[in-house]
Amino acid sequence: MHSYRNRERSNRPVSPLMRWLRNNVPLAIFLLVAAAGMLAIYLYFNPDPGDATAIVQAVQGESPFNVPLFGGAAADQTTQPTSSGPRIGLIAGHKDSDSGAVCPDGLTEAEINLDIAQRVAISLASRGIASDILAEFDPRLAVYQGDALISIHADSCAEINSSTSGFKIAASPFNDSNLLEQCILQQYYLTTGLAYHAHTITPHMTDYHVFRTIETRLPALIIEVGFMNLDRTLLTSDAHIPADGLVQGILCFLEKK
Ligand SMILES: [Zn+2]
Repeated sequence: MHSYRNRERSNRPVSPLMRWLRNNVPLAIFLLVAAAGMLAIYLYFNPDPGDATAIVQAVQGESPFNVPLFGGAAADQTTQPTSSGPRIGLIAGHKDSDSGAVCPDGLTEAEINLDIAQRVAISLASRGIASDILAEFDPRLAVYQGDALISIHADSCAEINSSTSGFKIAASPFNDSNLLEQCILQQYYLTTGLAYHAHTITPHMTDYHVFRTIETRLPALIIEVGFMNLDRTLLTSDAHIPADGLVQGILCFLEKK
């Protein structure tokens, strides 16, 4: 009985696939490993679809037809790579509040601030860094979770004298924003060539209302990116330069923090 059952099992027909596998064990293992390797390489190099979407959205925002003077729909764009990577808050100064400084020909500070903020957001997105463009009194500020917050403003259009050119920065006094301030100051200076205008920093900057409302651990600063009169070309037709200065400062900060 016992031997009969054994004989029956050994006589069972073997499928051609099993027979081939049994005769080619090393080759079968090699094919399996190769397939797993190719799958791993595909998964590693295939970009996260969330990143691609964010970049496409950001680039679309650059279209001249999408750039509002201020307060438009494209201004609310958020670039959100899906990973939990770095995230930068960008306040477009005066957005959804008022026009800020105004030049005699109608050029407003708010439109300069928003244009630069959007350029920074697009550039950061191309480097896989998420950012949020925020309004001056954005309700998200009180609970904003990010690596840093930068409020972008520009100085008055009044030409007081030939020294009304340059930029200035005030950092939050409620936390350690030193590294953020150093990086932005140095990189903005090196990229734009603008003078640092320390002696015209006002309480409006050092006691900036946003510093009092955000999470105390969030590094934050306000920057006046230039004067709307003497630095006008840099802030309008050459706005990619101040935007790049801010991006380089942000990269410096993220690298060293
Ligand atoms: Zn302002």
